[in-house]
Amino acid sequence: MTETREKDLLATVPGELFIDGRWRPGGAGETIDVRDPATGQVLRTIASATREDAVAALGAADAAFPAWSATPARERGELLRRAFDLLTERAEDFALLMTLEMGKPLAESRGEVTYGGEFLRWFSEEAPRIQGRYGANPEGTGRMIVSQHAVGPCLLITPWNFPLAMATRKIAPALAAGCTMVVKPASLTPLTTLAFVQLLEEVGVPRGVVNVVTSASARDVSEPLLADPRLRKLSFTGSTAVGQKLLEQAAQRVLRTSMELGGNAPFLVFEDADLDKAVDGALAAKFRNSGEACTAANRFIVHRAVAEEFTRRVTERVREMQVGRGTEDGVTIGPLIDEDAVEKAHTLVQDALTRGAILQIGGQEIEGPGTFYQPTVLSEVGEGSRILREEIFGPVLAITSFDTEDEAVRLANDTEYGLVSYVFTESIDRGQRMIERLQTGMMGLNIGVVSNAAAPFGGWKMSGLGREGGAEGIHEYLQSKYTLTPDPF
Ligand code: NAP
Repeated sequence: MTETREKDLLATVPGELFIDGRWRPGGAGETIDVRDPATGQVLRTIASATREDAVAALGAADAAFPAWSATPARERGELLRRAFDLLTERAEDFALLMTLEMGKPLAESRGEVTYGGEFLRWFSEEAPRIQGRYGANPEGTGRMIVSQHAVGPCLLITPWNFPLAMATRKIAPALAAGCTMVVKPASLTPLTTLAFVQLLEEVGVPRGVVNVVTSASARDVSEPLLADPRLRKLSFTGSTAVGQKLLEQAAQRVLRTSMELGGNAPFLVFEDADLDKAVDGALAAKFRNSGEACTAANRFIVHRAVAEEFTRRVTERVREMQVGRGTEDGVTIGPLIDEDAVEKAHTLVQDALTRGAILQIGGQEIEGPGTFYQPTVLSEVGEGSRILREEIFGPVLAITSFDTEDEAVRLANDTEYGLVSYVFTESIDRGQRMIERLQTGMMGLNIGVVSNAAAPFGGWKMSGLGREGGAEGIHEYLQSKYTLTPDPF
């Protein structure tokens, strides 16, 4: 019964490229196998785009831009609202599809449908609020008009870890602003995006406004488009290493860019923290999405006076976790996305252990089928360990300790990344000092999850450029024009 439901659902997903309002195969007839990371089995085989397909998609976006950017903002907003309603109606299908291709437990996929859907609702409300300014210049000799204009055709590149939300977080503000686009989802998890774009087609988004090209070679899509003068904007979510390469290419044409890149989030537990809150927060910040989140807490920096108790409590909670296929009841930790992810997590754990860390629980790969890693807790992780420098992207909780607030801040900021930090303290003064002193674009104060469509999501330092969501999110897709006209009197 369950298997039939999965098969039926997979059969509804369009397995082709969507260019200029038409689903079609890739030009070279090549394909991509999309696999279930919990079983290793192929779920669907879908089209792979060539460079020519990518250029055709940009051509469609360029042709659709004048009419779409001139469509009244209210109409654009209403289309987004209809998309929100339909997505909500189909929440169970989208949740299952995401679990199948990405692996996260169904409960988390349902959460992502809610979160991803909120970007549609939020930007449906922001579209009619795009505003300019009008006023006298300070000399009193003229009138200054500032108007907002859609940037133009965009390339939106998304990662595999949040297949729906990373797409809606870009597509919704772009549509609201009046931009057209070519979307390139991750080749590991493209099905959710394809299903979502089919939904946009159903609610009436006009031909050419949203185009999707899945490709086994990401560069075949990105390189010709970044070199094409018709492209006006790149929005990328993924690793810092790939983001840097794309920024270099974008620089050749001084392209507008938004970059949501990697993280290395510190999770600070002070001696005055409420440990119940800190342990709950730790579990959410670390094990959501099996640790495969840019916002995942990477380094637990815990005051020496409470480190032992904190370690004991999180280890107890980890012992209760159930690893398995995300579709099964009671499963709290799904598979990692692929073999490389398992190997990376294991290498980092081994490195920490050889440098003196203590293994509290876990620390082993789980035999297949599927790519699973045991939820793991390490304590007394030494300062030189790779696990404190690199994104773990797996279910491994690494604890180090500190003695003074200054030391905690130094350790927390000792990274090239600056996406998010988590702070647990019952002192309001200390909490406010942390807002001032921690070098991250976001902070959870006594809470382990910060994502919200109404908030400006984004990082400092090498975690990125620009913001997604909130009042800021739409401005990534708008450019201002200042006009001066003489004083009319
Ligand atoms: P990734 O390897 O950088 O890939 C991200 C996207 O870029 C995918 O669509 C990928 O396509 C494409 N890509 C890869 N190499 C490319 C190239 N040379 N030129 C053009 N496009 C290229 O990252 P990932 O492994 O999917 O995602 C994990 C990373 O994303 C982590 O570092 C995580 O922190 C970060 N992330 C950041 C945020 C944020 O908001 N800051 C949110 C989620 C994830 P293929 O799939 O075809 O390789």
